[in-house]
Amino acid sequence: MKVYLSKAIHIEGRNWKITCDSTNSNYYPLSFISHAHSDHIPKKLPKTNIITSHVTKLLLNNFVSNYEDAEFYENFTQENVSFNQVSSGHIIGSTALIADSNDGKLIYTGDVSIRDKGFLQPFEPTKCDTLIVESTFGSPEYEFPHYNDVIEQTKDEIRTYLDNNIPVVLMGYPLGKAQMLYHAFGNLSETIILHGANFKINSFLESNGVKGYIKAISYQEAKEKNILAEKANWILFAPLKSGRDKFYSYLKEKYGVKLFAFSGWGISKNYRYRMGVDHGIPISDHADFSELIEICEKCDPKQIFTVYGHTTRFAAELRRRGFTAYPLSKQTILDSYFG
Ligand SMILES: [Zn+2]
Repeated sequence: MKVYLSKAIHIEGRNWKITCDSTNSNYYPLSFISHAHSDHIPKKLPKTNIITSHVTKLLLNNFVSNYEDAEFYENFTQENVSFNQVSSGHIIGSTALIADSNDGKLIYTGDVSIRDKGFLQPFEPTKCDTLIVESTFGSPEYEFPHYNDVIEQTKDEIRTYLDNNIPVVLMGYPLGKAQMLYHAFGNLSETIILHGANFKINSFLESNGVKGYIKAISYQEAKEKNILAEKANWILFAPLKSGRDKFYSYLKEKYGVKLFAFSGWGISKNYRYRMGVDHGIPISDHADFSELIEICEKCDPKQIFTVYGHTTRFAAELRRRGFTAYPLSKQTILDSYFG
């Protein structure tokens, strides 16, 4: 088997090949898309066979051009190889790819989380021969606190503000983080408002019956009906941006809102100053360092390739722990043969 990076992650076995999460539109005849974040999909879908989940397919259908040309599969079998998907626990619809062939079993995690957040099936690592694992937080300083502790503490902070008639803005990416935030904090106020970007995705999920949406009104509607001024204890869910952004500065001045930014980078003490927000909350859609190590230990592969983020650092940490591990980065094209 051969694994290399050249504009996309390429995996080649005997008589089969596949690309993973290419942002480039030039594909092999077969491609895998792990989830619908923009850094994992091309702007235009080519005429090719695409393995992805039903939910990711729906999202691509709505948000990516040229959708009609592709052929979609949830599982795919051809001579010498079968491809299957399992939840990667990252965002709604996200999956990891499992390729079983006479070259052994390979797992490509895509972006991954093994933490139980109550509404997404976490990734469950299983024994394999080759593991291609993300390494966004693949350095020992990235250790997130316990998820439920952070949620409970943040709930208390939000409640205190709302009880004192101070509205709050909860910021996270509209696809992924936002659904997690709705699940955790959506019942803390009777007035739930969504920023336009959140509202668009939320309406799409609701109309397609995809789990993860919330009953809410748009910011536009709240403004038109004067709800923002009349009610003080509202929650606005909005995209993650600097608190110095024009829109957030306006909300602070006009309504005295408190800003919460949700990101794995929130574990850094100066994150909230850097972002100009009142609270930086360390909640991530990705595995932290210990969880990445746990994934590798449970998969117990003969070889590991690290992709995205701290690839070199994480591969070095894995080698220190006795694994055969290489970073798969744009600078390094590595061929690997085994079996
Ligand atoms: Zn992602």
